[in-house]
Amino acid sequence: REERLRAVVETAPDAILLVDEDGLLFGWNEGAQRLFGYRREAIVGTSYLHLVLPEQRASAQEEFARFCSGHMELLQGRAWEVVGLAESGEKIPIELVIGAWETGGRRNFSAIIRDIRARRQAEDDLRLAASVYAHSYEGIIIANAHQIILDVNPAFTRITGFSREEVLGRDALFMVCESGQNSMLGDIESSVREMDFWQGEVCSQRKDGSIFTEVLSVSVIRDQTGRLTHTISVFSDISLLKEHERELVRVANYDTLTGLPNRRLLADRMMQAMARSRRTGRSMALCYLDLDGFKRVNDELGHVTGDSLLVEVTERLKTILREDDTLARIGGDEFVLLLVGMVPEEEAWRNVVERILQKISMPMALEGKSVSISASIGVTLFPEDDCNTDTLLRHCDQAMYLAKDKGKNCYQLFDAEYDREIKDYRLRVEEITRAITRREFVLYYQPKVDLSNGQVVGAEALIRWRHPELGLLPPGEFLRFAEGNDQEVLVGEWVLREVLEQMTDWKSQGLALTISANIGATHLLRENFAGRLRHFLELHPMVRPGELELEILETTGLGDMKAAVRTLNNCRRLGVQISLDDFGTGYSSLTYFLKLPVHLLKVDQSFVRGMLEDPNDLGMVEGMIRLARAFNRMVIAEGVETLEHGALLLSLGCHLMQGYGIARPMPASELPQWVNNWRRGQLWRSLPPVSHDENRVLAIASQSFNRWVEDVLHAQQHPEEAPDSLPDSSSCAFGRWYGSSGYAHYGSQPVYQKIAPLHERCHEIAFQLLNPARGVPDAMALTAKLRQVQEEINHCLQTLVGR
Ligand code: C2E
Ligand code: MG
Ligand code: MG
Repeated sequence: REERLRAVVETAPDAILLVDEDGLLFGWNEGAQRLFGYRREAIVGTSYLHLVLPEQRASAQEEFARFCSGHMELLQGRAWEVVGLAESGEKIPIELVIGAWETGGRRNFSAIIRDIRARRQAEDDLRLAASVYAHSYEGIIIANAHQIILDVNPAFTRITGFSREEVLGRDALFMVCESGQNSMLGDIESSVREMDFWQGEVCSQRKDGSIFTEVLSVSVIRDQTGRLTHTISVFSDISLLKEHERELVRVANYDTLTGLPNRRLLADRMMQAMARSRRTGRSMALCYLDLDGFKRVNDELGHVTGDSLLVEVTERLKTILREDDTLARIGGDEFVLLLVGMVPEEEAWRNVVERILQKISMPMALEGKSVSISASIGVTLFPEDDCNTDTLLRHCDQAMYLAKDKGKNCYQLFDAEYDREIKDYRLRVEEITRAITRREFVLYYQPKVDLSNGQVVGAEALIRWRHPELGLLPPGEFLRFAEGNDQEVLVGEWVLREVLEQMTDWKSQGLALTISANIGATHLLRENFAGRLRHFLELHPMVRPGELELEILETTGLGDMKAAVRTLNNCRRLGVQISLDDFGTGYSSLTYFLKLPVHLLKVDQSFVRGMLEDPNDLGMVEGMIRLARAFNRMVIAEGVETLEHGALLLSLGCHLMQGYGIARPMPASELPQWVNNWRRGQLWRSLPPVSHDENRVLAIASQSFNRWVEDVLHAQQHPEEAPDSLPDSSSCAFGRWYGSSGYAHYGSQPVYQKIAPLHERCHEIAFQLLNPARGVPDAMALTAKLRQVQEEINHCLQTLVGR
C-alpha cells in the first residue's frame, strides 16, 4: 500500500511536500523538485520558509502558528494563491492546498502545490484585453463569421450614439454609407475574405443621422482548422481631423475675403490648364488684373469699404467667366483670370477682357456711396508664350504695368520680343560690371592738333572693351547698356582714374598732354561728382587739374540743368577744363551752350564729315564756329577725315582738330611715338588750297544737287539698289539749303527764285522715273528732260557766283 501511495505521490504533476510542527520539511516529491529546483537530499530537514519570499516569511510563520495551535478548520477546502521562491531565486505564482493530520500528539501538514504561471499569464492577458476593450478610444465591434454583431465597446456608443443593446444582432457594417458607384461594402468584404484584413476611410452615419468619417480596420479571427470565427472591426472618428484638414486646405488655397482661389491653387489650376491646352491645341489666356486707384478708396473711404469693393469686383468678374475658367485673388487688389479653351486665331480673349474692363468701371454702391474704379489688365497667351507658371504670371504682370503706363483702364498683351530685349539688356548690364572687375576695358587715345601751327594739343581717351570672345569692341557696342544706370558711374570713374594714371605715367616720361575724358549725364549728375573728381586728382598729384578736360556728352541730355551747372562750376573751380561734345546734335544745343560753364565747343563729326558735300552741314559748321567766337569760347572740330576738311576748317577759323585724317585712336603705348612722328612729319604744312568763301557754298550746293541727280539715274538703272523712298524737293540736302541759309544769302535775287520751280520739276521727273508702276512711257525721254532741267539749275547757281 505504501508503495502504491508513494507511486501516486511521486508521479503526481503537482509538487507535494510534507512539513512537521516545527516547520521542517520531511517529504519532497519529484514535482516539488521540478517546481522549486531543490533536490530532496538538500531540502528535507530544512524549514519550509526557504520556499517563501523573504518579505512574507513573518506573516507565513504567524499563520503557520495558528494552524499548529489547533485552528484546523481554517484549512478546510481552502486554496491559497501565493508566490513561491525557487532555488534559482525565481518567483513562481502557485496555488497551495494544505492538509493536516496528527500522529503522536504532533501535527503534520501536507501541501499540494500547483504551478499557475500559465494561468496567471492568461488571466493577465484577458484582463488587459478587457481593459483595452473597455477603455479604448476607438470603437470596437466584435462580430461572428456572418458579420452579426456580438459585442461592441463603450467607445462605440460614444462615437455612434447607438447603445450596445441596439446594435447586437445587426450587421457589422450597418452604419457605413455607400458613396458613388463603386461598392465600398463589397470591397471590404472581399478584401477580408481574401486577405483577412481591410483598412481604409469610410463615411458612416451616427444614430442622429449625422455623417462622420472613420478610419476602419477589419481583421478576422480563425480557429485552428482555419475556419473564420469572428471579425473584429476597430474604428476611430476622424471627422475633426478631416474638418481640420479641409480647413487647412481652404486656408492654404483660398483667399479668406472673397473665397477665391489664391496664388497656390491658381498655380495648380494653371498647370492643369497648360497640360490640357497642350493636349487639345486650344489656347489659354492668363490675365493679370490690378485695380487702378484702389489705395485711394482704401485711404479715403476706409478698409471696410475697400473690402466690400473687392467683394463686389469679385462678383462682377464671376459673372463674366465661364465654368472652366478660374478667377483667383493673389494680392490686395490683384486678380488673375485664367481663360481656357480659346481658339488660337480668334482672339476671343479680347472680348472677355474688354467686357471685364467695362463691367468693373461701372459705378458701385458701397455703404451708401457711389464709388467708381477701373482696372489695368496684362494678358499673356499660352502656348504662344511657352514657359512655366511663374514666368507666365510674371509676363502678364509686366504687361499689366505697361497697361498702367498707357494710362490705366486698359489692357496690354505681353510682348515676348520686347521681353527678350529687356532680358538681353539686363544680361549686358551684368557683363559690363564683370568686365570692370576683370579689367577688360582699355582706353585708346586719339590725338588733337592745332593745324595752324602743327602742335599736338592733347588727346581724347576713348574706351574699348577687350572682350574675351568678341575681340576689341568700340563703345558704340556696349556703352548704351551702361547708360543711365550705376554701371555708367562705375565705368566713368574707372575712366577718370585710368586717364589720371596714364597721364602720370606719360609725365614721368616727359610727355605732357591735355587729356580729355568723356562724361555721361548720369555720371555727371551723380551726387558729389566734383568731390570724387577732386579725390581722384589728389591721388595723382603729378597731374595739374588744368591738363584734364571733361567732354560732356550733349546727346545724353542733361535733365537737371541747375544741378549740371552747379557740378560743372565745382569742377571748374578745381581747375579742370570743360568741353561740350557732339555739339549741334542735341535738341537744345544752344541752351546747353549758353547755360553750361564750358571752355570749349566740339563741333560734331557728322557736320564736319558732310561739310564738303552738303551745304547744310557746311552752314552748321560755319555757324558753330561763329557762335564760339562770339561767346569767346574755343572750338574744335572732330571727325576730320581728310586734309581737305582740315584746310576748309582752318579757312573758316577753326584750327583745333581731331579725326582719322590726323590719327585714329590708338593704344596708350603708341601715343608717344606718334607725337614724335607728327612733330617731325610737318604734314600740316602741305594743306591743299581752299577756294574762296562765298563761292564755295554755291559750289557745294551745286555739287550736292548734281550728286542727287546721279543717284536718281543710278537708281533707275539699278532698281534693286534703290532706296525705299527719295526725299521730296524740300527735304533733300539741296532743298534744305535752298530754303534756309541759301535763301538768307540769295533770296532776293530773281535768278535764285527761278531755281525753285525747276527743282520741283526735277523731283517730279525723278518720281516718274523711279515708279514704273505708273506706266512711264519713255525713260529715255524723262532722263533727257532731267538732264536739261539740271543744266538750267546749274546755270542759275553759276550766275549767283560773285553776286
Ligand atoms: P565722341 O566722344 O564724340 O568720340 C569721338 C568718336 O568719333 C570716337 O568713336 C572716335 O573714334 C570717332 N572718330 C574720331 N575721328 C573720327 C573720324 O575722322 N571719322 C570717324 N568716322 N570717326 C571718328 P568711338 O571711340 O567709337 O566713341 C564713340 C563715342 O562713345 C564717343 O563719341 C563717346 O560719346 C563715347 N565714348 C567713348 N569713350 C567713352 C568713355 O570713356 N566714356 C563715355 N561716357 N563715353 C565714351
Ligand atoms: Mg568725346
Ligand atoms: Mg563727339
